Amino acid sequence: MMKQYDALALFSGGLDSILAARLMMEQGKKILCLHFTSPFFGDNAAVPFWERKYGLEILPVDISDEYCQMLCSNPANGFGSALNPCVDCKIIMMKKAKALMAEYGAKFLISGEVLGQRPMSQRRDTLNVIRRDAEVRDILLRPLSALHMEALPVELSGEVDREKLLGLYGRGRKEQLSLAKRFNIVDIPTAGGGCKLTEKENARRYYEVMQKVRKPSANDFFLANHGRQLWNGNIWVSIGRKQADNEQMRQYQKESDYILRIEHFPSPYCIVRQTENKPVPAEELQLIGSILASYSNKACAFFTEKKEPVSIKIEHNGNLERIGVEPKRYEQYRELRFEEIKDALQQLKKNMAE
Ligand code: SF4
Repeated sequence: MMKQYDALALFSGGLDSILAARLMMEQGKKILCLHFTSPFFGDNAAVPFWERKYGLEILPVDISDEYCQMLCSNPANGFGSALNPCVDCKIIMMKKAKALMAEYGAKFLISGEVLGQRPMSQRRDTLNVIRRDAEVRDILLRPLSALHMEALPVELSGEVDREKLLGLYGRGRKEQLSLAKRFNIVDIPTAGGGCKLTEKENARRYYEVMQKVRKPSANDFFLANHGRQLWNGNIWVSIGRKQADNEQMRQYQKESDYILRIEHFPSPYCIVRQTENKPVPAEELQLIGSILASYSNKACAFFTEKKEPVSIKIEHNGNLERIGVEPKRYEQYRELRFEEIKDALQQLKKNMAE
């Protein structure tokens, strides 16, 4: 039989989520922390460290598919400063947590939100929207700010001692730090600004995927996380910048992708994905081969010295082909700048507000 818990806690790895769980454990509650993962947030590898360091039980939960679907279908509550749909993000996590409650015997949910801490997702009105739309009104306890909120059935019944809950408010971290001290937490996680969707560098990568890939999948967004992202119309080229990118990109290549490598020299990994399910024309592969070679100092030096084309291997659908190229960049294959999508994002936000 599955181990039973009193409550499930949303756990990001940030200080507030640690404190919320520990505060309830101090009341003798058995808490299972849910750590949600997707292309945009979550760190499976950190789970054993967090469990050891903070004395928590943590279950990683992959919500990539439903999250990508939500992101790409105009989130009802709009975006924050970049592509972060914070309110709908919380709603989706709460709904998932609620769906897991029966399996773990949990009677309520916990989250570490602090009233007034973040402009978008932690204002009183948005906290109420999250509670309402995730249908967790009577079961979601926010222990760090509970005294600013009406008591839940678990508080009224005495199962949770309301007097031991807190009334934190605003952006300051002083009270959280003294609470951490009380719990003997010495490794304090740095205050995070949010997930990858809040970063402009990443927003511009994801925006192209959202605009140009029909029904983007988690795989598309995972791939967009790595290396250079060059686009020419619907042809998408990912080129690793460093060894770690090359290794990660391999995990996300698909049967229908074209994989390009420079022959005879160390080569960045290069994945070409045609977002319209059409073959990539040979002349475009020639240009992409040139671009790929231009990112290799050794290939460039070879071409300058020997005046011979650099050999590029192309794998596609189990076939291998070779072409010779001159290392060169082409302007039509370019990375989007955040400034270029800013207006489009603002328009999107305006349309949603109307
Ligand atoms: S910052 Fe990212 S993970 Fe955090 S609530 Fe916003 S969208 Fe969700």
